[in-house]
Amino acid sequence: MTASGPNRRKAVVVGAGPVGCLAAMSLAKMGWSVDIYEGRPDMRLPSSKAAAQQRSINLAISARGLAAIQAIDPGAADRFLSTVIPMHGRMIHDAQGRLQSQPYDRDGQCINSIGRAFLNEDLLKEALAVPDIRAFFQHKVASIDFDRRIMKVQDVEAAQDVDVPFDFCVGADGSYSIVRRQLMRVVRMDYQQWYIPHDYLELKMPAGPPQEPGGDPSFLLDPNHLHIWPRHTFMLIALPNKDRTFTCTLFAPTADFDRLDSDAAIVRWFSEHFPDALPLIGEQALLEDFHRNPRSALMSIKARPYHYKDRAVLLGDAAHAMVPFYGQGLNCGLEDVRVLDVLLREARVDATSQVPECEEDGRLASALARYSETRHEDLVAICDLAMDN
Ligand SMILES: Cc1cc2nc3c(=O)[nH]c(=O)nc-3n(C[C@H](O)[C@H](O)[C@H](O)COP(=O)(O)OP(=O)(O)OC[C@H]3O[C@@H](n4cnc5c(N)ncnc54)[C@H](O)[C@@H]3O)c2cc1C
Repeated sequence: MTASGPNRRKAVVVGAGPVGCLAAMSLAKMGWSVDIYEGRPDMRLPSSKAAAQQRSINLAISARGLAAIQAIDPGAADRFLSTVIPMHGRMIHDAQGRLQSQPYDRDGQCINSIGRAFLNEDLLKEALAVPDIRAFFQHKVASIDFDRRIMKVQDVEAAQDVDVPFDFCVGADGSYSIVRRQLMRVVRMDYQQWYIPHDYLELKMPAGPPQEPGGDPSFLLDPNHLHIWPRHTFMLIALPNKDRTFTCTLFAPTADFDRLDSDAAIVRWFSEHFPDALPLIGEQALLEDFHRNPRSALMSIKARPYHYKDRAVLLGDAAHAMVPFYGQGLNCGLEDVRVLDVLLREARVDATSQVPECEEDGRLASALARYSETRHEDLVAICDLAMDN
């Protein structure tokens, strides 16, 4: 239920990624008036969708992430489930092209494949359907004065800076978080960031021909598996999409990528290591993706604490970016929102009556302190599991 009234306090959420959208929904449902500030253009615009296609990673959403969406908005969780493809196990492709299915669970539990752009757009639409959530796109947060509770934001379109007052700031602005960097000025934050020697690159596997004349396109691989081509220091994975294509991600050491410096070298390397994937992706499409799509770095971030007084908290990748080999980065970010939601409710934080400017909201401050204390061990554990996997 959304509270109304003139005294509601203002929460600003920095970042309209999946975690920011779910955090906005959680806070609005507790009575906060919520404004989301997003540096990029509105992802619902056709021009944004075209740009997103070049970095269209697929995500595996597990019970952890689903439970978080369910806790904040059960209806949104049901709608979300209708947009995913369940993957009941891994399909291992060996170097000779032989397949081995490894079910995740004897009782049919699964993880769910969805394109990041689809998931993000769906969550944004869910958030903006909640009364009292507004989103400002192309509004890039530049600096934050937490003690004065004022954020400086660059309005990119109008080419001007605006001062935004707030009561509570949620930093959901991803691995390169400005909120985290600004918090470091006022908090004694322990912080660790390191890159692994691997890059990743997205490739597309097209849909196959219809099974019967006039029918729908077909999947070229079993759609209910997460396909993996493990090759010691590098690997290829493929996750299914609703349009019957697969999004493939190649992870390899930077030095290996650098050696693939001609079309012939790329095709030769693929036919040597991924002999069954190459004909499905197609040589021409492989080369186009290789040349067009960006190669991106992978890093891991640990920080502590995640909060400052009653003013701010970091959630999602802003607090704990992790390498993707455990498929839990976003799942953990969504879980952050659920855990914080529980703590704010338990502390009976009141978003509907103003706290005098010179005073601190003791309930909010202690809920945030509990969040930092209780959440850290789990997040470090999962960052380490991801690194070791
Ligand atoms: C190859 C790969 C595969 C992955 N696979 C999985 C998987 O299978 N399962 C899983 O759970 N996770 C996976 N992850 C991790 C997942 O993608 C991230 O954990 C997730 O996207 C983080 O969400 P977020 O909302 O915290 O941050 P982001 O998605 O990074 O969103 C942050 C938002 O903040 C905005 N922003 C940044 N700076 C500012 C600013 N100054 N002002 C305003 N806005 C700003 C950005 O534009 C962005 O929209 C994978 C990651 C990679 C790289």
